[in-house]
Amino acid sequence: MNYDYDLLIVGGGLVGGSLALALKDAPLRVGVVEALTPEERRRSPAGHRALALSRGTAQVLDGLGVWREVAPEAMAIRHIHVSDRGHFGKTRLHAADQGVDALGYVAVARVLEDAIERGLERLPIDRLCPARIIGLKAGAEGVCVTLKRDGECLGLNAKLVVAADGGNSSVRNLLGIEQEVRDYGQTAIVTEVRTEKDTRFTAYERFTASGPLAFLPLGRKQCSVVWTLKDADAEEVLALSEAEFTARLQAVFGYWLGRIEPAAVRQGFPLKLVRAEKMVDERVILIGNAMHQIHPVAGQGFNLGLRDAALLADRLWAQTGFGEDIGEAGFLARYAEARRRDLANVIRFTDSLVRIFSNGFPPLALARNLALLALDRLPPAKRLLARHAMGYGVRL
Ligand SMILES: Cc1cc2nc3c(=O)[nH]c(=O)nc-3n(C[C@H](O)[C@H](O)[C@H](O)COP(=O)(O)OP(=O)(O)OC[C@H]3O[C@@H](n4cnc5c(N)ncnc54)[C@H](O)[C@@H]3O)c2cc1C
Repeated sequence: MNYDYDLLIVGGGLVGGSLALALKDAPLRVGVVEALTPEERRRSPAGHRALALSRGTAQVLDGLGVWREVAPEAMAIRHIHVSDRGHFGKTRLHAADQGVDALGYVAVARVLEDAIERGLERLPIDRLCPARIIGLKAGAEGVCVTLKRDGECLGLNAKLVVAADGGNSSVRNLLGIEQEVRDYGQTAIVTEVRTEKDTRFTAYERFTASGPLAFLPLGRKQCSVVWTLKDADAEEVLALSEAEFTARLQAVFGYWLGRIEPAAVRQGFPLKLVRAEKMVDERVILIGNAMHQIHPVAGQGFNLGLRDAALLADRLWAQTGFGEDIGEAGFLARYAEARRRDLANVIRFTDSLVRIFSNGFPPLALARNLALLALDRLPPAKRLLARHAMGYGVRL
């Protein structure tokens, strides 16, 4: 077997898998290294999390041939309802006002992972799975990579390595790339509920003193819940009995959807903003969660990671079209520069949402309620917020 690649993607998850699909038919020898077998991945409870997907993301997934498999199981978001618990301000966004049929979609991560997996199975690429990267040495001509597979070490060469191996990226660790970490001291509790009333394609974002609470429509009477709480409160809420938990959630969310009933187990995800200190190193590019982990309050993590993959695929197509080396420093620097602004905008937007809306200080609570009221009455401001929700605003 020949282990010389043009491009080696480490991590065949949502973002790495999407990059491989985007390079279908590219004149590149591509290898994908993935630590988990598809069966192991399907067994992971993290696959239950619901992802809010922007319209821009759905369009990219459509181009990858993935969306047609996800769409029948995804729920359109036609309305977004934003409110502040215990205060008067609220705002509503409607797809029809923006001239579109959906502001975004909700899909269960596992449905998307499975569709990407089926797409990868159809590609003529080498899939090294299950295998883990344990060594990496970059030089002027290429990168030497060592993998551990079936208890044995395997040596590979590549012109470019793309790290798409998630928040605990081995590639990033092997290169000693530091991370900037902002711990929000919050945990997202993720679960599902059945609702008495029809969700009517509405996503609810409710800001509370301890953090934001999102109800995302998964079905006519089913919602995915992402409830962000301070770490100590989350610990207590995770330990509640089912009846106590439901009562607490109902009290915080209110009766917008009538009575709610639990429909899945609760899982806690500690929340941090993590950003690698550099996006590129010699012949290595970091994308997706390997590069950035965002607070799920604005549902941006995968949307952002997919834009990394989409832009990188475009650039790789062009670079190979010109017959140029895909690992050369100038190419990597131009890619990093092109992604810098989008990443900074999303981090700023998400971070300010967390800071402003989880603050119980009365003047700030008043200011944000006035802002929500004003927003509800100002069509241009609402259009801007809607563009953000649809995944267009963040590209400005
Ligand atoms: C509670 C919660 C809610 C969220 N909600 C949203 C949302 O509404 N919208 C949104 O856009 N995003 C959301 N996100 C974020 C989204 O889930 C992530 O941004 C996305 O999963 C990142 O994909 P990735 O491919 O970069 O990383 P991952 O999904 O972590 O994939 C990494 C892959 O690399 C593999 N791997 C790891 N180590 C190695 C190794 N050493 N060698 C080889 N392979 C390896 C792993 O097995 C995995 O397959 C949410 C996240 C959480 C926690």
